[in-house]
Amino acid sequence: MISQDTIDTLSKAEVGARQLFIDGTQMDAQGGASLPVISPIDGRSFASIADGGAADIDRAVVSARKAFEKGSWSRATPAFRKKVLTKFAELVEKHAPELAVLGVRDNGTEINMAYKAEPLSAAGTIRYYAEAIDKVYGEIAPTADNVLGLIHKEPLGVVGVIVPWNFPLMIGAWKIAPALAAGNAIVVKPPEIASLTLLRLAELAAEAGLPEGVFNVVTGSGSVAGEALGLHMDVDAIAFTGSGPVGRRLLEYSARSNLKRVFLELGGKSPNIVFANAPDLKQAAVVSANGIFRNSGQVCVAGSRLLVQASIYDSFMDELLKATTKLKVGDPLDLSSDIGAVSSAEQLTKNLGFVAKAEEEGARLVTGGERILTETGGSYMAPTIFDNVTEEMQLAREEVFGPVLGVLRFETEEEAVRLANATVYGLASAVWTSNLSTAHRMVRAINAGVVHVNTYGGADITVPLGGFKQSGFGRDKSLHAIEKYTDLKTAWIALG
Ligand code: NAD
Repeated sequence: MISQDTIDTLSKAEVGARQLFIDGTQMDAQGGASLPVISPIDGRSFASIADGGAADIDRAVVSARKAFEKGSWSRATPAFRKKVLTKFAELVEKHAPELAVLGVRDNGTEINMAYKAEPLSAAGTIRYYAEAIDKVYGEIAPTADNVLGLIHKEPLGVVGVIVPWNFPLMIGAWKIAPALAAGNAIVVKPPEIASLTLLRLAELAAEAGLPEGVFNVVTGSGSVAGEALGLHMDVDAIAFTGSGPVGRRLLEYSARSNLKRVFLELGGKSPNIVFANAPDLKQAAVVSANGIFRNSGQVCVAGSRLLVQASIYDSFMDELLKATTKLKVGDPLDLSSDIGAVSSAEQLTKNLGFVAKAEEEGARLVTGGERILTETGGSYMAPTIFDNVTEEMQLAREEVFGPVLGVLRFETEEEAVRLANATVYGLASAVWTSNLSTAHRMVRAINAGVVHVNTYGGADITVPLGGFKQSGFGRDKSLHAIEKYTDLKTAWIALG
């Protein structure tokens, strides 16, 4: 674990003006533009990043293509790639305190969560794909005796990686690690409000021995740098996590450019369903509160729609309120805070807009609903619960991506299934029940990429993550993710 003394020391480090990372070299954006880095902890600027544009994206893609064609990474033995990536994972682990504190200053996630979920998780992901890559075999087809059919797996070439600000390192590593392990060269476009840790990650990759040009980072806005990456004619694939509207744009960019493949991990409105026969209602309430409120609700799989069976509704709501009021919102660099800052002032304003609309539509505010700790100058929001939510309300349909929970009531299992699936999303879900048959029926009936049973969240790197319906397609994590970054080539050989 990280100590408070270490956090306090690291949080005073000067960050200064951060440049792009292209072809193994730090450089300014062409034209020299930069963007301030505002910390949501106190609303103050503590650094700047280069504001990259289309010309910078082009430089990075050219560098990635050159490195790919050269072959010192793409055609290196899997054993060599494993060695470099293992060293990379070790360096990320060694620098975990520095990366965690830097990330928290940037996006406001509480440090006790960020430390594990960002650098340590990223290091684990890099190690997992390093270990995996020399165990991925091609295939021999079952052909007639006079031919040999071989199925080779080859890297795609240049992969663009675009990620959101809530967990840039963890989510970035889910794409960066399998793409690199498979031999691709990458261009990363970090989120403009949380770029610092991904820039540092690229430096650590270089220190581990990754050849120049294999890992490039272009910071800048989504609408300029992100769009340029999406439209680039020499990018073979885009691995994206973020919002639905931007995901749709990336599909358009692909259609308008070179038909690059696009993998989308988008939002969710995940149902968390508590049956009266849940094994431990108190524990279910505590885990459910954490499942929506940690990182100020800025978690793609957050259980933002709570469905509670009518017979236990009142008692469960009491437990939920108790668990919620115990959560301490505060300085995310203080180890005692359970919840840190909302990532930006804009996101906080957006969250409060959802609160106003829920009240207007007739939901009942149980707790929270307001900005707090205003004296800090930062962006903090009280964990917010609405009940009497109905399925037509905005709060039951749209993703807030903030600490706002909507609670609905159900009577029967059929009604729970209907409500759970009454959404355009299908990312995550949970079912709390001690009846094994109910659990298995619900796992089959819910249209979502993950169904937790008697828990919420916490799935490790060994299992896939991704969505059904408008939550996207193309899975992150597990051995399946490697398939996204490789292509199949058939060799059909006449044996005479
Ligand atoms: P966002 O879509 O606004 O931004 C994501 C990234 O896309 C950023 O790097 C941004 O710069 C870039 N971008 C923005 N406009 C672009 C454009 N026109 N072209 C190319 N790139 C562009 O999302 P956000 O606000 O950063 O993150 C919140 C969203 O991410 C939520 O909807 C959340 O559910 C989703 N998310 C999903 C998962 C998952 O695994 N499914 C995980 C975390 C977050």
